[in-house]
Amino acid sequence: MAEAKMLDGAALAATLRRRIADAVERLDDYHKLTPGLAVVLVGENPASQIYVRNKSKQCAEVGMRSLDHHLPDDVTEHELLTLVHGLNNDPQVSGILVQLPLPEQIEPGAVVNAIDPAKDVDGFHVINAGLLSTGDTGTALVPCTPSGCMMLIGQHLSELAGLKAMVLGRSNIVGKPMAALLLGEHCTVTIAHSRTRDVARECARADILVVAVGRPRLVKGEWIKPGATVIDVGINRVEAPDRGAGATRLVGDVDFQKAAAVAGAITPVPGGVGPMTIACLLRNTLVAACHSKGLEVPDL
Ligand code: NAP
Repeated sequence: MAEAKMLDGAALAATLRRRIADAVERLDDYHKLTPGLAVVLVGENPASQIYVRNKSKQCAEVGMRSLDHHLPDDVTEHELLTLVHGLNNDPQVSGILVQLPLPEQIEPGAVVNAIDPAKDVDGFHVINAGLLSTGDTGTALVPCTPSGCMMLIGQHLSELAGLKAMVLGRSNIVGKPMAALLLGEHCTVTIAHSRTRDVARECARADILVVAVGRPRLVKGEWIKPGATVIDVGINRVEAPDRGAGATRLVGDVDFQKAAAVAGAITPVPGGVGPMTIACLLRNTLVAACHSKGLEVPDL
């Protein structure tokens, strides 16, 4: 039986989107400025197609301009870079997102770092990564998933200073920026990964545990410190024979039922971190639009 407080990402994301929509309306009223998000999709990856469709839909719902570019699977790196350079120079475009993964003929780092850092709404450019790691979150565009995780943590904990935080996973898009944000809030941060010895013991020390590994239900209930805040970033599709032959379901990287009996607060999967990621993407697009005109970023 779950005892932990449920950190409802769907509800929090809906609140954030409403605030963004209000801010977008005010930008139009007072400054005749409509933020525009360019999303570039290469190839036919079904998961990417769904994700990109959701982004475009939510963009329109908050009153932003959505500019979609769909390129074939065999596009060359040069052709993609040419498109990115065009978007960098397009005043209608406040933010650019190139959906990953890219086909193997294209080096993702070359594309990500070709995006104007001021339009890099994913926050993956080395300039934004550097700004974040040096603590300049006012200037940096911060990666969306870790931003969303911080907002979810803030739903349960008002003060993070001095808490022990553990980030399981060290990817550039989740683990590392997550650790930087927690450090910025004065947590004592540990990062663990596939080579870490005794991951269970490391997790059990954490007041805040953020898990981003992509391994279904890796983190067990007994790995969790009683009362800890648990943020499950993982999205894994697994077979669900209880739902019928061939059926599947989404699960996180944490064994939810067992963990919820021990934790103080926990995010569900789905409905936790996932919805926050797109909402934070919209927020970054708004921030980029404001920065481009030297306007103060509205308090969301
Ligand atoms: P990634 O790039 O594959 O990184 C996975 C990390 O987990 C790596 O650092 C890896 O260690 C570590 N790891 C793997 N197996 C481990 C184990 N058994 N014990 C300890 N550490 C282990 O993944 P990612 O892009 O960060 O994504 C992680 C998960 O989050 C995926 O399920 C992804 O779908 C999900 N995700 C969700 C959202 C969202 O919006 N909710 C956004 C992004 C990602 P090494 O570095 O040593 O290999």
